[in-house]
Amino acid sequence: MTTSGPRLVLLGMPGAGKGTQAALLSEHYGVSHLSTGELFRAAVAHGTPTGVEVKVFLDSGELVPDDITISVVEEYFAEGGPLENGFILDGFPRNLAQAEALERVLAGHPLDVVLDLEVPTEVILDRIAGRRVCVTCGATYHVNHPPKSPWKCDVDGGDVVQRDDDTEEAVRRRLEVYEQVTVPIIDFYAALGKLVIVDGTGTGDEVQERLLKEIDGRVGQASR
Ligand SMILES: [Zn+2]
Repeated sequence: MTTSGPRLVLLGMPGAGKGTQAALLSEHYGVSHLSTGELFRAAVAHGTPTGVEVKVFLDSGELVPDDITISVVEEYFAEGGPLENGFILDGFPRNLAQAEALERVLAGHPLDVVLDLEVPTEVILDRIAGRRVCVTCGATYHVNHPPKSPWKCDVDGGDVVQRDDDTEEAVRRRLEVYEQVTVPIIDFYAALGKLVIVDGTGTGDEVQERLLKEIDGRVGQASR
């Protein structure tokens, strides 16, 4: 027995609540929550050659290419800590090439489990298409939970609006793209026997409970 935490990947459609759940799990197990954004920012802050490349893409608003993203993850794990102590990856791997690269990078410290948060498309559509955002501070609301005075932010009085990419049509397109790139990852982890599908509907607490049960079941079985 060691005191190390689980090594997890959390998958889920945009709007499935992945980021929120990853943050809760990270707190519960005391392990690092590694979103791609945070890994990029860490690389840029360290000023490594990869970090310098990442900065160019981030500054131009372009998607960071696969090979650079994989280098960032490699460099991060090369430092060792999270490999031993456990982590939650959120937003990586994003496609099959990244999933295969991750297996190489982790080598002697394999993933304990890959959790796929499943939420029906209609629920996602309601969550995202109903979302309204403060243009000033980014606080989020929902048509069913509006700010106190009509569409003025509770925090700073800024206009609360629907983002262009939160319309139903835009969300449907995003979900289609997500499925295309994610189905191969799901198949990949299923073939490795690491995939667990978790119902992502209901309250955050309910989803959290389901996730903990699956993780503890898996990690408890392992020999460490
Ligand atoms: Zn605001």
